[in-house]
Amino acid sequence: MPSSPALRRHCAAALLGLVLLAADASEEPPIEALLSDEERFISANAEFTLLHEMGHLLIAELDLPVLGREEDAADQLGFLSLFLSADRQRDAGFYARLLDIADYWRLEWQRPKPDYEEVHAWASHGLDAQRFYNLACLIYGSDPDRLEWVPKVTGLPMERALYCDQEYQQVSRALAWVKRQHGRRPGEPHGHRIRVIFDAPAQRIANGARLLALLQDSGEVEAIAARASAVYRLPRDLILRVVNCGAADAWYSRDAGELVLCYERLAHFQLLAAQLPRLRLNGAAMLCPACRHPAEGNRP
Ligand SMILES: [Zn+2]
Repeated sequence: MPSSPALRRHCAAALLGLVLLAADASEEPPIEALLSDEERFISANAEFTLLHEMGHLLIAELDLPVLGREEDAADQLGFLSLFLSADRQRDAGFYARLLDIADYWRLEWQRPKPDYEEVHAWASHGLDAQRFYNLACLIYGSDPDRLEWVPKVTGLPMERALYCDQEYQQVSRALAWVKRQHGRRPGEPHGHRIRVIFDAPAQRIANGARLLALLQDSGEVEAIAARASAVYRLPRDLILRVVNCGAADAWYSRDAGELVLCYERLAHFQLLAAQLPRLRLNGAAMLCPACRHPAEGNRP
């Protein structure tokens, strides 16, 4: 978030100018989606983290067959079935959250980090850059007609973007199969549920009380838990717990039947959010390369 209201207004005006100068109205994002909002960025990426871990939870609890890497499957399963293809209104706020999620992976990819935090080619997770492009592709592929601006704002190359609708359809077909096998039928009595527990944030978590209030006020954590147990026939009651764990982490423990989100991960999103205004101005400039970039003097 820009450090002062004046700077925030300047960024907003710059973005608005660039977007209005973009050539084709059908290719413009909603202006709200390009504006940086620290709380929205933290909340959207807490939600994505929970969705990814929900993917692991569903793979484990429903004993799903997995082709390819589980980490990629967890991104697709959680993000698509409980967010992207869920019955949500596709308004400016929805698109803003999509962009916040993609941009988190771009910031993570570009962030200089110590060796122990690097994701290596041999690791079980995809590289941050790959997760960024994979998510940008799924987002664009979910609605290419209305999301023409996504490749421009994210820098997703056309060579990949051309096939994103097919990638999205392929994942959708797999999810439809999962729902046929494990989804709750309309009118079926509610079965097992996911209970949400918030531990108190530790003193060492920067702005811990604010982060807890942000999550609780948004209602997103309970909503994700409720959505997962409403959509799928879970075999047992499970727990989703927000805790202090000493690392910016999250995981699903099959043994404990517990999905964990660490306060340290929320604090990490808070730190990265400071980089977002710079990223958004660059994204707006990509929409209109010929426009003058107000934050960078005379550079075209
Ligand atoms: Zn994972």
